[in-house]
Amino acid sequence: MSKPRVAIFDFACCEGCQLQIVNLEEEIIDLVTLVDVVEWREAMSEQSEEYDIAIIEGSITRPQDEERLKEIRERAKILIALGACAVTGGINKLKNNFDLEDVKKCVYGKDAAMPHLDTAMTKAVGEVVKVDFVVPGCPINRAEFAVIVRSLALGKTPVLPTYPVCVECKMRENGCRFEYDEICLGPITRAGCDAPCPSAGHWCYGCRGYVDDPNVNAAKDILEKYGKTIDDLKSKMLLFNSKQEPTL
Ligand code: SF4
Ligand code: SF4
Ligand code: SF4
Repeated sequence: MSKPRVAIFDFACCEGCQLQIVNLEEEIIDLVTLVDVVEWREAMSEQSEEYDIAIIEGSITRPQDEERLKEIRERAKILIALGACAVTGGINKLKNNFDLEDVKKCVYGKDAAMPHLDTAMTKAVGEVVKVDFVVPGCPINRAEFAVIVRSLALGKTPVLPTYPVCVECKMRENGCRFEYDEICLGPITRAGCDAPCPSAGHWCYGCRGYVDDPNVNAAKDILEKYGKTIDDLKSKMLLFNSKQEPTL
């Protein structure tokens, strides 16, 4: 059986999720026995228009990016969105909360009107083309990425956790960040990262996006118990999940 051909592409992003793949180190040797990597700008010079699996990192922020993404989609049998920028729009989507001209002036100053700096509202990959699988997180969890690629190469369907970060946080026996007068997005965020942020003394920033069917009543009970409001929670949700709030 021939190995699936994989191509990795990037759009607006910091490339940190690709770096996570590079950092798989020995495991990457194991993965390339299962797939043929035919294009990956960050790690090789070869290019190809023939691939089975396209992995997309980054958000879509310009009309020309939409066209490029649609061409990639047409060539690929399976398309994977890699990392928060691609899956939800991530931090890049923060700019959608402001006037785009103001954003450009803030970032580029007197050069803001130059044509090559033109920009549009940020879109997640799934807002432009059909996405088959996602690898959430900012950055992605390396082990989760390896499991997803291995599953696809073996013809299996990868499955993400359908429970919130709080479950993994409790299993690590962390003190709850609400006890420190903070607001944590763990109750509504998809698990799979093993709760590194609460384990290191930070609240969960929600980088993995919302869990399916978040337990909104439980989240409201926690807020009430600690004297916080839904608006407090929503202000934290802006960082990674602008304009994609579950109904709270
Ligand atoms: S999801 Fe985070 S780490 Fe990955 S490319 Fe975007 S900003 Fe970088
Ligand atoms: S709210 Fe945050 S700190 Fe508290 S249990 Fe859930 S993930 Fe952990
Ligand atoms: S704990 Fe929250 S912010 Fe930290 S990696 Fe997990 S989902 Fe992302």
